[in-house]
Amino acid sequence: MTGRVWPEVYKKLGVSPIINAQSWVTALGGSIMRPEVLQAMDDAANAFVDIKQLNRAAGEVVALACDAEQGLVTSGCSAAQVLMVAACMTGQSEANVEQLPNTTGMKNEVILFKGQRNRYDKAFVTAGATLVEYGSEASATAEELDEAINENTACIAFVVAPFVPQGIGLEETVRVAHERGVPVIVDAAAEVPPRSNLARFHNMGADMVAFSGGKGIGGPQSSGLLAGKSELVEAAVMNSLNLDSSVAGIGRPMKVSKENIVGLVTAIQLFTDSDEAAEWQGWQSKADYVAERLDGIDGLRVEVEDHPSERQGPQPVLYFEDDYNGPSIGEIIDQLKSGEPGIFVGGGGNRAEINIVMVNVQDGEEIIIADRLNEILRNS
Ligand SMILES: *Cc1c(COP(=O)(O)O)cnc(C)c1O
Repeated sequence: MTGRVWPEVYKKLGVSPIINAQSWVTALGGSIMRPEVLQAMDDAANAFVDIKQLNRAAGEVVALACDAEQGLVTSGCSAAQVLMVAACMTGQSEANVEQLPNTTGMKNEVILFKGQRNRYDKAFVTAGATLVEYGSEASATAEELDEAINENTACIAFVVAPFVPQGIGLEETVRVAHERGVPVIVDAAAEVPPRSNLARFHNMGADMVAFSGGKGIGGPQSSGLLAGKSELVEAAVMNSLNLDSSVAGIGRPMKVSKENIVGLVTAIQLFTDSDEAAEWQGWQSKADYVAERLDGIDGLRVEVEDHPSERQGPQPVLYFEDDYNGPSIGEIIDQLKSGEPGIFVGGGGNRAEINIVMVNVQDGEEIIIADRLNEILRNS
């Protein structure tokens, strides 16, 4: 056992905590904050503060971490996506900010490579924009992007995620967009770690980049950030809570609390200061441990994989060969979920594999996972 004490607050509500071997997924709670982050939030909760001043100061921490001109703390990556598009449509016009989501008189088209359509892209149109696709599901060309740009184009959106193709790539997207004087915004929600990605996409020329605060960074689950060129980030600020105006911006329902602002900046600082190699090694040894414990099961091949474009950290991947005759993938996943505590792993569906992502597996939980998999796979 891990000796871990499950929080009473969940029990009181009749909700059972689970082991998250599925990554930084929103549906399982994002990530777990470091004690220093919780302490900072606790401290922040005990005093009033000028939120405008706090937002500005937090934005500077974000900008520094991202090597960008200006930053802004948001209530998530999705909120950052809404604000980035709003900023590209309104610019720094107070009248435009007040007019959204009515975009009459503004550039209001967001261009996205068809292959990058995904479950989060609604956020690109929430502020009143229209999505314009180019290319096919599998590929696109620079010419197709160029043809999609017109006088109504507010920005080009680009998504960096393991589950979408890169199309013509970010650098080529930036080249085509900038030749036509159009900004490029990036959804890179779950692309950190590596820590270097905080600055990487700006350095490739993107105008604004958004990340989740509650995934790899380890901030509050409902926090996020955007950073980029100050002219545009300032417009995003105007579209957010917008305490300078009598009319709150389109981002008013995406308010960030003082506790979450302080929690996120603390998490960012701890994240950028902490040792990436040691963090990786921790995931690696958990992955190796589970893989070893699953050795010698007929028809089961276990590989520890860590390809960065497909896998979030080193993880055992279970492949079921032709001579495997134990419970089906679906049955294994169900049995893991219905145990006590429930264990949520990746894979299943139409992928003939189970993957056990270690980034959110707390110390000792790898033993519970290996024990349970052995029960299921060897006793059937
Ligand atoms: C998680 C995710 C989001 C949403 O981020 P939140 O911080 O939960 O708002 C957006 N885009 C991608 C690619 C994601 O993985």
